[in-house]
Amino acid sequence: MTISDEQLGTLRADTPACKNLIHFNNAGASLMPMPVYVAMTNHLKREQEIGGYEAAAEAKPALDRFYTAFADLFRASPSEIAYVENATRAWDMAFYALPLSAGDRIITHSSEYASNYLAFLQMARRRGLEIDVAPSDGTGQIDVDALPGMLTPKTKLVAITHAPSQGGLVNPAEEVGRFVREYGLFYLLDACQSVGQMTVDVRKIGCHLLSGTGRKFLRGPRGSGFLYVAAEIMEQLEPPFIDLHSAEWTSNNDFKFLPDARRFENWECNVAGRIGLAAAVDYAREIGLDTIERRVVALAQALRDQLAEIQGVTVHDLGARKSGIVTFVKDEEPAGPIAERLRAKKANISVTPQSYARLDFGSRGLPDLARASVHYFNTKDEIDQFCRLVRGEAL
Ligand SMILES: *Cc1c(COP(=O)(O)O)cnc(C)c1O
Repeated sequence: MTISDEQLGTLRADTPACKNLIHFNNAGASLMPMPVYVAMTNHLKREQEIGGYEAAAEAKPALDRFYTAFADLFRASPSEIAYVENATRAWDMAFYALPLSAGDRIITHSSEYASNYLAFLQMARRRGLEIDVAPSDGTGQIDVDALPGMLTPKTKLVAITHAPSQGGLVNPAEEVGRFVREYGLFYLLDACQSVGQMTVDVRKIGCHLLSGTGRKFLRGPRGSGFLYVAAEIMEQLEPPFIDLHSAEWTSNNDFKFLPDARRFENWECNVAGRIGLAAAVDYAREIGLDTIERRVVALAQALRDQLAEIQGVTVHDLGARKSGIVTFVKDEEPAGPIAERLRAKKANISVTPQSYARLDFGSRGLPDLARASVHYFNTKDEIDQFCRLVRGEAL
């Protein structure tokens, strides 16, 4: 299936900012489609009219939909889904819950998200965990063939990022999953940039834990995120924080965690955000994740090709399989000033600083990169206009 011109018109009409902006910052925060915005603002209105607790009670079906929508999206069970305020906290809740002790080893890759790597460093310092960075293969993705040779009896966890935020690569999550399952390790996948732009099937991938955020390719609200926890490892995980929602106080001196993934949630949360995020999942599924990926990949490749033709511009994306993220530099115009200049012309991108991707940019000798990230509602026309702006031409 592809998106027809007529459907594209509808999708763009659902995204009013398309009239005024070239939004190539979907890996930063995408634009909420109207059904998401309406679901959220309706709920805020009800909170104002009848009270927050009362509005939540009234919205129970929409709130329950959060769990079934993500279960449908990932081919998981609703009891394996938690609502968390962002991807970092979701990932943290999973990582710090794992039964790891001094000397245990973690396999990761240079494309790992900076906050995750900081958590590895913290736990190396605090608890004596050891970090093993898997090499890249010739395409720049994690070298799956090198993994068996890295195994030690102390290797417990493989933690990688599916689609890194600092480049257009998509790591071979399924192949890594086969390795993890063969050797009985834990598998924590940061899917923050992949969910919403491609099919992410936790059964095919074989991950035990998967984290992500609402605002990026899913087009949900800011300050919303999610965590998938495979039922088979639930009882081995002790959440690092506890409250009266995640656990039950069973007697004066005893408690137990909830049996499902809600043990990773906390009681107070952005209720309108949860409703909005569920609506965003339904919106994406209605278009179809394979259909979305096909269009995103084609647009991103067209953007890379056109940028590469511009004098002085170099594109830096790695990987055999690529995402909607496009990174580049331009001679004599650093990434920060390019992003500012484009924003003044109503074209949104972001900048990935070197310090957010030390292992990756360090080994490749890269400076801060300009990051343009396209979504299915973007168009070839916008790519043409964007490239003219990058050249320094007036539109
Ligand atoms: C953005 C991002 C995160 C962090 O998401 P937040 O919702 O900002 O916490 C984690 N991992 C990757 C790969 C990201 O791109």
